[in-house]
Amino acid sequence: MNFELEPELVQMQTMVRDFAHDVVEPRAHEIETTNRVPDDLMRQAAELGLFGLSIPEAYGGVGLGMVGRCAVYEALGHAHMGFGGVISAHASIGTSGLVKLGTEEQKRRYLPRMATGELITGFAITEPSSGSDAANIKTKAVKHGDSFVLSGTKHYISNAPIAGLLTVIALTDAALGPRGMSAFLVEMNAPGVRVGKIDEKMGQKGALSAEVIFEECEVPAANLLGRENEGYKEALKILTNGRVGIAARASGAMEHLIELSTAHAKTREQFGRPIAEFQAVQFMLAEMAADLETSRALWQKVAWMVDEGADVQKMASIAKLHATEALSRVADKAVQIAGGMGYMKDYPVERWYRDQRLLRIYEGTSEIQKLIIARALLA
Ligand SMILES: Cc1cc2nc3c(=O)[nH]c(=O)nc-3n(C[C@H](O)[C@H](O)[C@H](O)COP(=O)(O)OP(=O)(O)OC[C@H]3O[C@@H](n4cnc5c(N)ncnc54)[C@H](O)[C@@H]3O)c2cc1C
Repeated sequence: MNFELEPELVQMQTMVRDFAHDVVEPRAHEIETTNRVPDDLMRQAAELGLFGLSIPEAYGGVGLGMVGRCAVYEALGHAHMGFGGVISAHASIGTSGLVKLGTEEQKRRYLPRMATGELITGFAITEPSSGSDAANIKTKAVKHGDSFVLSGTKHYISNAPIAGLLTVIALTDAALGPRGMSAFLVEMNAPGVRVGKIDEKMGQKGALSAEVIFEECEVPAANLLGRENEGYKEALKILTNGRVGIAARASGAMEHLIELSTAHAKTREQFGRPIAEFQAVQFMLAEMAADLETSRALWQKVAWMVDEGADVQKMASIAKLHATEALSRVADKAVQIAGGMGYMKDYPVERWYRDQRLLRIYEGTSEIQKLIIARALLA
């Protein structure tokens, strides 16, 4: 086993980490108050190649494998989590379906603009009546000649308010249930598609999510992604890979919180000495480090398995479950170590405590990850 990353990857990871620390984090207040990622940060992210991480070089992307992408996601984990959310919804679940299943014509039409960030994407399966029970969606796509007509409502769709293209999962044969679903590339300026209410969230400001409504929305048959009626199977694969990326982002966030907590523990004095000298505080830091290292080892293993072509459904769920629950423990301890300051809005830990909570919910809740793991064990 060799856990060392290629030198070019280490270089990219360092660049992204520096960008996260030195450029994005200092703009956190602006992102929080405007609930937007400023355009210049989006442009700088594009220059670093963050929008094209998974897009092959032939289409203008960086063309990283899963280990490479996750190494970058970990570095990105040091940035404001809303900013990381915008990038990952695009570069991960928004892009991977098209890269894997798209026809040459579809790839040429969309990927170059996606790689530069000119065209932002997202992925839409969740509906008001089907979240964890994703096999129970109601949005229909009915074939009419050379088109499919979509009707239904998706909600909580990340990037929807800024996206130009969504991968949408809809029923093409309702009688077949999950075996009758297909994936579509839907352009957001198509007649009959509109963004509804933008969600007001607990955290991850700047990462906008919203309702997306399809009213007799005509999508050319050329925008069917992959085979008809295989959309659910493919959606699960997109989500499985996305979960590994979330474990990597969570690891970066843990590292950031540990850095903040150790710095604070060394400088804050009580009872005439730095609180870092109290064993109770040291134990919290030690547990935080153990949570980080186990999460990191897991994403590294599972990302490597993806690159080797292995089936990672169970392991991706283990990585996401462990890393996101670990991040919640770490964020809680970061607040505790900071004391009263940890509860104050002008100290960043308060924001990280709110922002990290989402990672245990989206792309499958912790309970759904446990179901996937248990099903694999009992199969
Ligand atoms: C900010 C945000 C962004 C999102 N972005 C996207 C996106 O880009 N695209 C997209 O398609 N979706 C997105 N989602 C949706 C997200 O994936 C769902 O919210 C999530 O899967 C949970 O579904 P739900 O909210 O309907 O909760 P529910 O399914 O109603 O779950 C409620 C609770 O019941 C538990 N539960 C449900 N079923 C079981 C079971 N069988 N056994 C045990 N416990 C169970 C859950 O774990 C949870 O604790 C986003 C959500 C949020 C909040």
